[in-house]
Amino acid sequence: MITERLYYTDSYTTSFEAQIVEQTSLQDQPTVVLDRTYFYPTSGGQPHDGGTLGGIRVVDVSIREADGAVLHVLAHPLDGGRVAGAIDWPRRFDHMQHHTGQHILSQAFVRVAGAATIGFHLSPDSVTIDLDKPAIDPALVDEVEDLANRIVTENRPVRAWFPSDDELARLDLRKVPDVDGKFRVVLVEDFDANACGGTHVSHTGEIGLIKVLRVDRRGESARVEFRCGARALRDYREKHALLSRLSAELTTGYWEVPAALDKLREENKALRREIKTLRGAMLDHEAGRLWQDADRSDGHALIVRQFADRDVADVRQLVQALVAHPATIALCGVSGEKAQLILARSDDLPFDMVAALKRALAVLGMDRGGGRPSFAQGGGVAAGPDAVASALRAAAETIRPGAE
Ligand SMILES: [Zn+2]
Repeated sequence: MITERLYYTDSYTTSFEAQIVEQTSLQDQPTVVLDRTYFYPTSGGQPHDGGTLGGIRVVDVSIREADGAVLHVLAHPLDGGRVAGAIDWPRRFDHMQHHTGQHILSQAFVRVAGAATIGFHLSPDSVTIDLDKPAIDPALVDEVEDLANRIVTENRPVRAWFPSDDELARLDLRKVPDVDGKFRVVLVEDFDANACGGTHVSHTGEIGLIKVLRVDRRGESARVEFRCGARALRDYREKHALLSRLSAELTTGYWEVPAALDKLREENKALRREIKTLRGAMLDHEAGRLWQDADRSDGHALIVRQFADRDVADVRQLVQALVAHPATIALCGVSGEKAQLILARSDDLPFDMVAALKRALAVLGMDRGGGRPSFAQGGGVAAGPDAVASALRAAAETIRPGAE
């Protein structure tokens, strides 16, 4: 192995000196290989460390598969042989808390729910493990949390090392790794042993709170979202602030927020019903007035009306109320961005509303619409009040005596 991986034996050192042994490039960015490094490369579900080399920002760290060299990708080129390295500690410590927290949580899921961990993902926005079961009873998830947090408060030692064959024989590994030769083991005393190359805290108390946020089914497995330490506190703080705001707005205790929302939803439903009734009564009243004033010169009641920017559903309801009267024709239009024509007649009259609509739409230069002989509707593009009025006049022409 070209690079000695110092983080294997020590997760806490943040400044070090090393020798540049190779200058190369990765994705067109300057990249160096050191003889020894504390920079953790992206692997095993844990993201790489941040920090600087010779004062230059390290933007990515990865392993070169061919020879195991640790590649430090830099923001700018770095000259020279000997360099000082500095690890971004808050980022590193966050990774340590979540990685050891993950080992404890995974073991707790095995013991409480009989569920094995098949995946781990750690990023700035999300931390998850995938379990080999599609669903976990919420009461069991609480038990898992309780057990994991008990292991934290007992402040158990965490050891990471390359065990001898004798030591390995005595360890009860959570999952036997698929590797040849020696491998590193992380042991949470008397609780969990697992093969792992990650950076870990030295005592479980450093993890702080372990909190499961959600468990989602994903096919045959379940994804568990969780937070540790400062991230768990931040999550609690945000949710507490949100709930406090909701309870202040609803002028109720936070535990009564769900009941207050139920009450609002019921009130809203009742109001909607009332509005619908009132609107119906209003439209009936308007229809009655329009019908009284209708033109009856051809022996039937003819109502031709243009409305500006009015709700189309209301106009349709109005038209339906009008043609509920015998011997009545209602030709209505709504002007606006999506103009609509609604043409209808009572069932006792012979005229074809589809033909009338076709004529009217032609005036507007549209062709979208249709219906049946007693009711037709169309439109959908912009038309002003005058254009709609002349379209309705054209529709009226088709039902005059003498028209074809
Ligand atoms: Zn691990």
